[in-house]
Amino acid sequence: MGTIHYFAKLAATCRTVFDGMAITFSHLMRKPVTTQYPDRMDVRVQDTLPYRYRGMLEVDLEICTGCLACERACPIDCIVIDAKKDKEAGGIVMTRFDIDMAKCMYCGLCSEPCPTGSIHHTPEFEGADYSLESLVHRFIDEPVLAFKPKKGVEPDPAIAPLLERGTRYLAEFAAPAAPATKPAPKEAPSGSDDAAG
Ligand code: SF4
Ligand code: SF4
Repeated sequence: MGTIHYFAKLAATCRTVFDGMAITFSHLMRKPVTTQYPDRMDVRVQDTLPYRYRGMLEVDLEICTGCLACERACPIDCIVIDAKKDKEAGGIVMTRFDIDMAKCMYCGLCSEPCPTGSIHHTPEFEGADYSLESLVHRFIDEPVLAFKPKKGVEPDPAIAPLLERGTRYLAEFAAPAAPATKPAPKEAPSGSDDAAG
């Protein structure tokens, strides 16, 4: 009994080794599939990512209304905006729009309430840098007058495409999912206590 058991184990061991080596040798004949990222790619990886990919945040200041909705929506205070009404300038003037990408968790909550799609994720993911400070992206160098949406079609040909992109972004990306519809309550069986009562 012991001898049979010994030879059964020996056969199983040989079979296992053979299986493993067969896989190893099969790879000797295959074409290598190593992807030489990033310098030998046919196309940039960023260009192959889906539209809803949540990469680094970008702000189109030209269509930012200075409403601060994104700043309020961020659960971990990554966004800092300084904006106040300026009668002389004729609207809200923004002097600071910073996003701390070192803190950002790419949740997308800031882009959902934006009325114009100004703040949005991009397919860019290569955010490595040499210091935490340089990961604070500063979008304003000098005071900027906030955008005021017009009634009807945007007449400025430089702004219209940005608004179009923003509107598409909000519709396809940032709009929260519709709430699930509740299943209809089941009818009580006719013979139950409730029905009888
Ligand atoms: S993606 Fe999320 S964590 Fe990042 S800035 Fe927007 S709300 Fe904040
Ligand atoms: S980016 Fe959008 S949400 Fe944020 S202040 Fe500008 S318009 Fe408002």
